[in-house]
Amino acid sequence: MSSNSNPYQNALTQLEIAAGVLKINKDILEILKVPKRILKVYIPVRMDDGSIKNFEGFRVQHNDARGPFKGGIRFSPEVSMDEVMALSMWMTWKTAVVGVPYGGAKGGVIVDTKKLSKGELERLSRGYARAVHKFIGPNIDVPAPDMYTTPEIMAWMANEYSRIVGENTPASFTGKPVEVGGSLGRANSTSVGGIYVLEEALKKIGKEKRHITVAIQGMGNVGANAAKILYNEDCNIVAVSDSRGGIILKDQRPKTKDQKLNMEGLNILKVLEYKEKNGSVAGFHGTKTITNEELLVLPVDVLIPAALENQITIKNAHDIKAKIILELANGPTTPEADKILDAKGILVVPDILANAGGVLVSYFEWAQNRMGYYWDEQEVNEKLKKQMIRSFNDVWAVKEKYKVDTRVAANILALERVVKAMKLRGV
Ligand code: NAD
Repeated sequence: MSSNSNPYQNALTQLEIAAGVLKINKDILEILKVPKRILKVYIPVRMDDGSIKNFEGFRVQHNDARGPFKGGIRFSPEVSMDEVMALSMWMTWKTAVVGVPYGGAKGGVIVDTKKLSKGELERLSRGYARAVHKFIGPNIDVPAPDMYTTPEIMAWMANEYSRIVGENTPASFTGKPVEVGGSLGRANSTSVGGIYVLEEALKKIGKEKRHITVAIQGMGNVGANAAKILYNEDCNIVAVSDSRGGIILKDQRPKTKDQKLNMEGLNILKVLEYKEKNGSVAGFHGTKTITNEELLVLPVDVLIPAALENQITIKNAHDIKAKIILELANGPTTPEADKILDAKGILVVPDILANAGGVLVSYFEWAQNRMGYYWDEQEVNEKLKKQMIRSFNDVWAVKEKYKVDTRVAANILALERVVKAMKLRGV
């Protein structure tokens, strides 16, 4: 068993650890180690200058024993097949941990969206939907947003799919704007769900949410919404970052020898206004620059990675001082780092549980689309809260039963559910 910066290797290592505890049949493990289907497509797009540019895209479908494949689409210049494969496997576990009737998939297109005009982005998005349309659909595979894809992009894709199949098919994509069949509460569901499980985790370490200190890496959909919720609930967000840099209050430094931070946090609403205008949090007045490396090892109560994979590794895990790590990003911690964090007594709320609020409300959206009957936001949030807390407690029970860390516990719970479905199907 080895792991490195290749996210797929890390996903395999995590699978092998959980399979080892459960003593999973070797043949089943062989099936689960690889995706069921990998699509690689080239999407020709007419650029604004009249030329044609070809973009490479993927859709990886890992497992559908528990229901249609489900997972987001990532638009990024760095996205790779290995990354999408890992993310598709994590989706299989995530949908199982929170008990929604789906399997796992993920998509990606190699593109820097910041370099495209709106028209080019729309043509690329529609092109992706056309390229994969035969392999997706409400009963087959239901994509959703991920990094650098938005509700508007989902609206274009669902519209393109509907045009191809000749009928209005909103349940083909989730994460759409409310006006075209999106669910109320979907936009910030990943962060809302994450904060529900954070509250449960805080109870386990005997801490209250109010006045905790928090550092957040990533100020996109997930990071910014989590920051807003925590700020509105009197938490102190001492540092945040995005792809262009990080910030911390100028006078924010450990005050005493036991490294307690100054209890004043950033005014997140103002920081986000500034980011909206300037494209980044970097340079916000009254702050100084902080690198990603520095942000991750701040002596905060809660560290929230909400950007990329492989941020907490063997290199920095020893220096992490947070009491809880809430993984709103997918795959931010490597298996070697997990061992170190566990030995240090840091409570990691693993990605497949912490950020599952997004797929939960995607499931609610899909169900509402199929019923043609829509819930109000309160109903969505009540269902989200109930299912997130139940999932946290399910994972905690497995953790205590097998005496393992929370990631291994979540993977065990997921694997048990997936393997049961595979066996019932006669695999
Ligand atoms: P997004 O595109 O809205 O935002 C990504 C953010 O990450 C941006 O603020 C960007 O500046 C920042 N970033 C990129 N590189 C960075 C770097 N090197 N250092 C610091 N920040 C950096 O994406 P998102 O939807 O918020 O997704 C963030 C993470 O959450 C991803 O891992 C994604 O897979 C995961 N996630 C998202 C959802 C969802 O519903 N959107 C659900 C589950 C998990």
